[in-house]
Amino acid sequence: MSRDFTNHPRWWITGPEPDESLRSLIERAVNLYGSEGDDYRPHLSRHATPYGVSLDGLDTLSVHDVLAVARTVGVRPRDLFMHRLTDHPALLEEHERRAFCPRCWQNDMHQGRPPTFRRAWSGIFTLQCAIHAVPLHWAPNLPAGEVPLSILRLTPATKVGKETLTLIHGFARRLGDALYDHAPWPPSWRGSAFSARALLMRSTTNLGCLPEHLPLSSISADPDLRGFVAVPLHRNDPLQESPWEGIRRLGPPAWRRAAFWMVAWYVIPRLAMRFRPPGLPFAPFEAIDDQWSVQPARRDMRRLQKYRRALIDMSRVFPVSRGARSVRGCVVGSDHT
Ligand SMILES: [Zn+2]
Repeated sequence: MSRDFTNHPRWWITGPEPDESLRSLIERAVNLYGSEGDDYRPHLSRHATPYGVSLDGLDTLSVHDVLAVARTVGVRPRDLFMHRLTDHPALLEEHERRAFCPRCWQNDMHQGRPPTFRRAWSGIFTLQCAIHAVPLHWAPNLPAGEVPLSILRLTPATKVGKETLTLIHGFARRLGDALYDHAPWPPSWRGSAFSARALLMRSTTNLGCLPEHLPLSSISADPDLRGFVAVPLHRNDPLQESPWEGIRRLGPPAWRRAAFWMVAWYVIPRLAMRFRPPGLPFAPFEAIDDQWSVQPARRDMRRLQKYRRALIDMSRVFPVSRGARSVRGCVVGSDHT
């Protein structure tokens, strides 16, 4: 261990809790000591890795920084190192990993432990707690211990609400398994995991050339699903990067449920009308597609056009346009089972 750390202050926080992310552990120290952003780094080492002013990159701390944090917290480096989380396309962006299970946090507090963010909640396709089977909620940027758990609902009140969440959660899980674990695509579903992913990207990004609401933002939710399903209400700028990055920024589980619900409606045939997302237009991508007919194509939009054409082509198998109304009308007559 470097002598650089010998005289550095100790952080008086507990070591990593079960499955806690490194970002969560450092956030606990930041909340305790009142530091902001990257202020902690100079206290760890003269040679600490510069990360700018944000907390990004904490889940994947370098070995050097893990050693420094372990010394400061007073735990064995190996006990900290095993909590690193290597970045992956199936994970949310690091600053969006603020989903949590209210039951897990209640248990933490009853047992005298700090509520912490688990690595298991950082996946794009993870919408409910694997231990308690309750929907994940979203913790805004305030200390985990200050989230008002008592006002959070653990389940919808109605049978339809419960069934809808089961449908959404099951669809997200199977899509994720098919994309990243080579699980088979259900033979009765339309398209493939890759075409469904293309439709998910169309639903969650602005592929137009002007600021616009995301297609998924047309969805609303019955009162019974409020808190479990919600949409971003602001206009988004045209896509500037890979469309998958837009999905990785959909941190709130309620937003992701809206996106997966919308895609599930087109992918799973013979869904009953009670499972149709409220507010979903018959041509949900029309507003964005129409922009291109009035706006001359600009040179700097070529990459965006390329993404857009590719995603439209890949998701052609799904009945998402006005011309496909009759197709969809044929397949919504019987119940989902
Ligand atoms: Zn839980």
